[in-house]
Amino acid sequence: MRAKKSLLILLGLLLAGGLIAAAGLLGAQRARAELMAQGQRQLQLMAPDLQSVLQKFETLPFVLGFQPDLIEALAHPIDARAIARLNSTLQTIQQQAKVGAIYVMDRDGMTLGASNWDQPLGFVGKNFSYRPYFHTALRGKAGLFYGIGTSTSEAGYFIAQPVYRDGSKRGAVAGVVAVKISLAEFERTWRSSDDPIVLADSRGVIFLSNRPDWIYHSLGKLDAAAERELASTQQYMGQTVRPLAGHSPYFVTQPVGQLGWQLMLFPGQARVLRVGLLWALAAALLLVCAAVSSWALYQRRRRLEEGLASRVALQRAALELDDKIVERTQQLRLTNQNLEHKYTKLQEAEHLLRSTQDQMVQAGKLAMLGQMAAGVTHELNQPLAAIRAFADNARTYLERDQPAQASANLGHIAAASARMGAIISQLKGFARKDETIAPVDLAASIRASTFLLDSEFRRHDVALTFEATADALQRPLQVTGNTVRIEQVLINLLRNALDAVEDAAERRVAITLARDGDEALVCISDSGAGIPEQVAAHLFEPFFTTKPSGKGLGLGLAISSSIVQAMNGRLSAHNPAGGGARFELRLPLSHQGVIVASHPD
Ligand code: ADP
Repeated sequence: MRAKKSLLILLGLLLAGGLIAAAGLLGAQRARAELMAQGQRQLQLMAPDLQSVLQKFETLPFVLGFQPDLIEALAHPIDARAIARLNSTLQTIQQQAKVGAIYVMDRDGMTLGASNWDQPLGFVGKNFSYRPYFHTALRGKAGLFYGIGTSTSEAGYFIAQPVYRDGSKRGAVAGVVAVKISLAEFERTWRSSDDPIVLADSRGVIFLSNRPDWIYHSLGKLDAAAERELASTQQYMGQTVRPLAGHSPYFVTQPVGQLGWQLMLFPGQARVLRVGLLWALAAALLLVCAAVSSWALYQRRRRLEEGLASRVALQRAALELDDKIVERTQQLRLTNQNLEHKYTKLQEAEHLLRSTQDQMVQAGKLAMLGQMAAGVTHELNQPLAAIRAFADNARTYLERDQPAQASANLGHIAAASARMGAIISQLKGFARKDETIAPVDLAASIRASTFLLDSEFRRHDVALTFEATADALQRPLQVTGNTVRIEQVLINLLRNALDAVEDAAERRVAITLARDGDEALVCISDSGAGIPEQVAAHLFEPFFTTKPSGKGLGLGLAISSSIVQAMNGRLSAHNPAGGGARFELRLPLSHQGVIVASHPD
């Protein structure tokens, strides 16, 4: 897999390299073709210029052939005046026509007169019979030649024409007139061109160029005959012609003139290279762009695919989650239902417990009433017997006509029945099933309880004392609760104390009421035997009793403790050092009491 990938990358790189190279070559080729075309156009503009200059001067020697001064001088070569006239004429014409030089030779090639006769390197007296143009002109034709002047060492184009003896073509040729034209002007105009421009002769020898070091070099190798000819004509003044090296093989050429010349241009290859490189670079850039965009496309597609896959996964996860949620919800609902069911059951149980507790309290109360019945009966019997006795006596007093005594007895009867009414109303109040929660004056509750048990205490000859602290007497100590229940607790504790002192030598029960911080403290102490150790552990357990059946149910302390707890109070018992038992009842004072206690002014 990896090897395959590397192979693919290698192939891709090779392909890219090939493409870049091809683009470079194509670019270079096109640039070259364009350059060649451009060069050709340039040559086509340059060649006519050159051509027209050559042609322009070709007629000049022909016309000069009919000049009388030339004919005259050739007829009389030793006539100094004729020669002087010739020189002057040639000089004037040369200056007017702006040619390099004009000179006249006799049939032997000896120069008789020249436009540069007065210059140190003048042609006069020089023999040019070795030049081919001389011979051509001598034969009656126009002789054309390019070469370096042997006297001036300046290159030039030579045009020669015959001069006829009698000034007409019918006569014999008396001499030759030649015009030398300098082509240096062209060379100068070519200098502005960056590309090499050359003018080469029919043998391929460069004789004019904007590259001075190219001049007198041949484009190809010269053969022996050509070399010999060059030497004999002294065309380039014996310059050794060497083949040109290091020139560009790309050039354009245009034929010029009648001597088989070639005007050549070598377009610079730097541009070709530049264009080739540019094309290659463009191709590389395109490839890079293509590679980058296809990579981006590939990445995008991959990301899309990944996105799709993750979306599918997400959807699946969401579905699974939904299922789980449904399942969990179901479980939760079931659990909830279960809990609700249990709660209902619990509520029912609590309700049952509460009602049972209420019933128990009520039952305890009724049991206590039963226990008190004997005492109450005795209490009621005494006034009842007294009432009967007073009534009997009253009747006797009335029969004896003693109304004052009878009235006194009736008063006694009223007092006795009032006491009976008080006892009955107390009992009725206690037996009533009253659930009202209200502030309860503890001192008043203690008094009501002792009132109910008063006769019994007296019957058993038990001294009952009630002592309240000055503070408790000044301001009633109030607790929040139900009067009947508080009295139930107090009566229960007093009855137990009564039972405990029944067999004792000294029979005392003392009640104290005091404030202890935020609490009211009721202590009931007796002079009994105290609470045995084994009893103390089970004191508040229901149905625990040490009393004979019929006397005790063992519910009193259990019920009392539950009543006190419901009021946020505490009930405790211990045997004090002085003997007997001591029950302590602590109940939180109601709000009003607390505020009074905290501002003792
Ligand atoms: P009961 O009075 O019906 O026996 P209680 O719950 O009132 O039921 O009392 C439980 C037991 O606690 C009594 O049987 C007795 O043994 C003991 N007891 C209660 N008060 C005193 C007391 N003042 N002195 C000694 N023992 C007591």
